Amino acid sequence: MSENINSLKSTFENELSLVDLTNKEAVDNLRVKYLGKKGLVTDLLKQMGTLPAEERPAYGKLVNELKAFVAEKIEQAITTAQEAELNKKLSEGYVDVSLPGNGIPVGSTHPLYDIREEIIDFFAQMGFEVDFGRDIETDWYNFEALNTPPDHPSRDMQDTFYMDEGVVLRSHTSGTQIHYMETHKPPFRMIAPGHVFRVDNDATHAPMFQQCEGLVVDENISFAHLKGVLQLFMKKLFGENVKTRFRPSFFPFTEPSAEMDVSCVFCGGNGCRRCKGTGWMEIGGCGSVDPNVFKNCGIDSEKYTGFAFGFGLDRIAMLRHSIPEISLLTSNDQRFLEQF
Ligand SMILES: [Zn+2]
Repeated sequence: MSENINSLKSTFENELSLVDLTNKEAVDNLRVKYLGKKGLVTDLLKQMGTLPAEERPAYGKLVNELKAFVAEKIEQAITTAQEAELNKKLSEGYVDVSLPGNGIPVGSTHPLYDIREEIIDFFAQMGFEVDFGRDIETDWYNFEALNTPPDHPSRDMQDTFYMDEGVVLRSHTSGTQIHYMETHKPPFRMIAPGHVFRVDNDATHAPMFQQCEGLVVDENISFAHLKGVLQLFMKKLFGENVKTRFRPSFFPFTEPSAEMDVSCVFCGGNGCRRCKGTGWMEIGGCGSVDPNVFKNCGIDSEKYTGFAFGFGLDRIAMLRHSIPEISLLTSNDQRFLEQF
């Protein structure tokens, strides 16, 4: 019987030498073939019952030695196979820690938002209250109370979006000032930032844009106060070296009225293509509040005077960032917005 055992040992050694030691499954199959419930070594143990009793201990010892030998070799082979498998996984799933990661794109604030916040900050520091008003106004608040006569060209359907009889999408934020004057007693200072709507659409005009208007009412308020505040504001927006000038103009709700220009932010006032060689750029309108507007809001125009001003946020953003088309600001083009 011992020949059977020795022969099985040789067969096993032979088979083991042929097995692919990097293949865990092949090694496992070999284990089952020899040590499984119906395995070859298990078979030899079962045959022990057919032997005479005196031969069984010696036989059993030999088979158990073979079993231990096979088990040890198989275990070594399994370890080798597991290592091979791990190495394979590591080389396949190799992580290069020097590669850039998958970053989450981070957004940025919109240039118009930034400018609006900056304007609000500036005026808040000077004690101005902020009133955002409403996008939809009645004819009274958008025109009539602002001393705009019924035949004024800005009331034309070609300039203003009419919703219903007497209801408009506000064409300026001046209506907010009327609401404010109706509900507040002077002295006060306030700004009214917000969206406004006009029937207009070209490179520098959009049907919707943002404005910020301001109003100061107190005793003895003069045009000098207006100039002082706005000059300071322009320095804040465009830097210490910016120059300002006021040109006589006309608005129904201010008297006297002026257009305010700043020295060209591109050429510093020397004259360039952007400022059409003048060295100046128009930035907004302003003036002393017309007594008729005060009258419409129940404010004593003998006692109080005031000034008002307004400018477009889109225009400021365009000047500051050299944006050629106003529509880019509302186009939601990520390539454009990513630059800020
Ligand atoms: Zn210029």
